[in-house]
Amino acid sequence: MTKVIDFRSDTVTQPCEKMKTAMANASVGDDVYGDDPTVNELEQWSAERHGFEAALFCSSGTQANLLALMAHCQRGDEYLCGQQAHNYRFEGGGAAVLGSIQPQPIENEKDGSLCFKKLEAAIKPDDPHFARTKLLSLENTINGKVIGLDYLRQARDFTHHHQLSLHLDGARVYNAATALNVDIKEIVQYFDSVSICLSKGLGAPIGSILLGSNLLISQAKRWRKMLGGGMRQVGVLAAPAKIALSENVLRLQTDHDNARYLAEQLNQIDGFSVNIENVQTNMLFAKIADSININNLAQQLAKQHTLITPDTHMRLVTHLGITKNDIDVFIEQLKHLLMRSE
Ligand SMILES: *Cc1c(COP(=O)(O)O)cnc(C)c1O
Repeated sequence: MTKVIDFRSDTVTQPCEKMKTAMANASVGDDVYGDDPTVNELEQWSAERHGFEAALFCSSGTQANLLALMAHCQRGDEYLCGQQAHNYRFEGGGAAVLGSIQPQPIENEKDGSLCFKKLEAAIKPDDPHFARTKLLSLENTINGKVIGLDYLRQARDFTHHHQLSLHLDGARVYNAATALNVDIKEIVQYFDSVSICLSKGLGAPIGSILLGSNLLISQAKRWRKMLGGGMRQVGVLAAPAKIALSENVLRLQTDHDNARYLAEQLNQIDGFSVNIENVQTNMLFAKIADSININNLAQQLAKQHTLITPDTHMRLVTHLGITKNDIDVFIEQLKHLLMRSE
């Protein structure tokens, strides 16, 4: 079978043989009854590993974020978040639709952070005209960029000062920890709740974990059931999730190195430009010149089993399914196709 080189996302990763074996052999039970030993073990381990009281295994990052928002906020409350935040832009408006929670987006700064002055100005006074501001939701990494520990500490102080809770959409927080070269606890310690995707760079087939206090997680669990997320013998998914968390973290540096290498190679090609400064983890954005028909290029590449998302501001993502050699293959394909179209 010809290898497909897929730069569209790190969600495309395939489970390794060890994960498949673990899935086949997982001890399972009815998780709605709390009977699934593999889920229980994953949740207990995850809570301890990240320094939280409790953890909840969720079907997706979208679900984990929604549960967190609904546990923190009641009907008529609001959360502050970035204009570019995944849980504002890309989750179907779930907090508003299903939680009756109003989002208050704030323009992200260039580095992905949110300006505290702007946040402060958006906090509503205690007055029946307004929604009640309850939560600040941050994202790390955001569009592949890392938010540093200094900022996170300030965000914690800011939310304490204004009596807000603090949530992290940490879909790729292990990429942030890798880039900062710190233990994951150094990042997540500042937050009341954190969601982590196991099905992206960490390579599990399905699932996210939500971390929080016992109270928050018990509330999230009620919402999860109501939303149809109470799964039964779900240990078959918790087993590879545990492998993802315990064995696929150290190798993330390879993805970061590969993203940087890919950026450097693309910058050698006329019509492609990547701001290397922004390539901090496993993701890069390439500006494509008007002279290049990127849709056509994507179609030609697909015939050669290389997949990209065509866009004039094109996102490319590295992950455990992409080697340095795959990048060389891609660059050669690109050069060939561009030469032919001249
Ligand atoms: C992918 C992603 C999510 C949602 O995860 P799904 O499992 O795809 O629902 C949430 N936040 C961020 C930042 C993401 O990248």
